[in-house]
Amino acid sequence: MSIALYARKSIERENSISCETQLEYCKSMIKPDEQTEKIVTFVDNGFSGGNVDRDGFQKMMRQVERGKISKIIVYRLDRISRSLSDFVNILNTLKKHNVKFISSQESFDTSSPYGEMIVKILMIFAEFERQSIIERVTQAYAHRSEMGFYMGGRKPYGFTLTDTMIHNIKTKMLSPVAEEIEQLKYIFEAYSVPGITLRRLMDNLIDNDILPTDGSWSTGKLSTILKNPIYVKANNDIYEYLLKHNTNIISDISEFNGVHGLQIYGKTKHSTDDWSDMKAVVMSHEGVINSDIWLNCQKKLEKNKQIGNAISNTTSWLGGKIACKSCGRTMTVTKGGKRRDGSQTRYFSCTGKSHNRICKGTKKPVYADSLEDMVYELVSEKIETLKCTRKKISTDNSNQINLLKNRISEIKKAQEQLVNLLMNDAIETDMINLLNERAKKLAEEKADILSKIDALENEESEIISAINLSKKWRAANFEERKAVCNILIHKILIDESGNCEVVWNI
Ligand SMILES: [Zn+2]
Repeated sequence: MSIALYARKSIERENSISCETQLEYCKSMIKPDEQTEKIVTFVDNGFSGGNVDRDGFQKMMRQVERGKISKIIVYRLDRISRSLSDFVNILNTLKKHNVKFISSQESFDTSSPYGEMIVKILMIFAEFERQSIIERVTQAYAHRSEMGFYMGGRKPYGFTLTDTMIHNIKTKMLSPVAEEIEQLKYIFEAYSVPGITLRRLMDNLIDNDILPTDGSWSTGKLSTILKNPIYVKANNDIYEYLLKHNTNIISDISEFNGVHGLQIYGKTKHSTDDWSDMKAVVMSHEGVINSDIWLNCQKKLEKNKQIGNAISNTTSWLGGKIACKSCGRTMTVTKGGKRRDGSQTRYFSCTGKSHNRICKGTKKPVYADSLEDMVYELVSEKIETLKCTRKKISTDNSNQINLLKNRISEIKKAQEQLVNLLMNDAIETDMINLLNERAKKLAEEKADILSKIDALENEESEIISAINLSKKWRAANFEERKAVCNILIHKILIDESGNCEVVWNI
């Protein structure tokens, strides 16, 4: 085994350091305990670092592949190559043959932990340079057939498991059951509406004769369904959601293209906030629920966990807006009895009846839940009529926006890694320059993409703003709903039979 010293000098740069001097620097990096080892030198005088077609360099790499070399020492990193992806390829080859690599000017030593880290970062950037988005999408499709099988666990509602062979491994695949898929769509849509609790969702299903193909509904069963990402059309919003929960995302970001379902598996129970033990894989089957609806449902499930029924027990977002048609007084929320499942009933009653007994009020109780549901729908309709256009964003545009958002997520990740690296005190000037250059490129690309997204959104800005309005209403919390009602609704009058009449401000 020998230690190889490599030097390169280009013709065009006359005043650059000579190969002889470079080799002197290299020799100074040989450790005392290596003095007895054989030293071989490889020199390329008058070659550029733009590619690796250099006699001396190729000769050295052949020796590496024959296992003749234990260590390569250079004066500076750019002596090997000025192309980052070439450089990373070379480092990979060296690693494969257990060849250590040392650069005298940048304290770059692959045998040190710091050197390892640099190699990792360089690889990330090389990856970045190498693949265009389109290439990666194509790759992702090829890759999907491998990842498409079901990882196990109970069969999710809406699918059957079909036996299949992937790479000679017997495994299962998900196939949709049309009737159940229709039910799932209904369940997600219905639950994403504010005010609908799991229990009321269950009642709603039974009232509408939507019954499961196996057994009966329970709030537990519904909650399991609503939490399962196997149904979602995984796109960039879902990718960001997983990142927020520290999920280990196995699939390439390009697979989050808004078409396929997702599987999450691993140790931690789904109910905790930190999913770092969980793995997420984009599946081969198609998702059935739009990401915004699915995320709305998650938001609701999470919120329920935190506050329980604290707010909805005693107040309503319609508070102050409801008036008795008989006497004109405000109707306020009163607590009723508990339901069988322990949840609290609330109803509106006339203050003229409860305090002064000067009004008969309504004959039947006006349940707050029902009234909220009804007003919610009326406001939704009102928002629809406020739209100038009813066109939807073209699929092309939203697909393109999703792709660009995916790229932004990647850039953000790379930028974070860069910042961490630049914070390292041990880093050398040359490496800082290299990384700064990369940071500049990333920032430029990001700005470029953001303006592209802007352009795509502006192209249909009218439509998007209208859609956002409905979207915001669907996702609105208690305070927001109250605020919207204050703007849109003057009063809601209830007559003695319980019929109501909405007096709009707009
Ligand atoms: Zn009254």
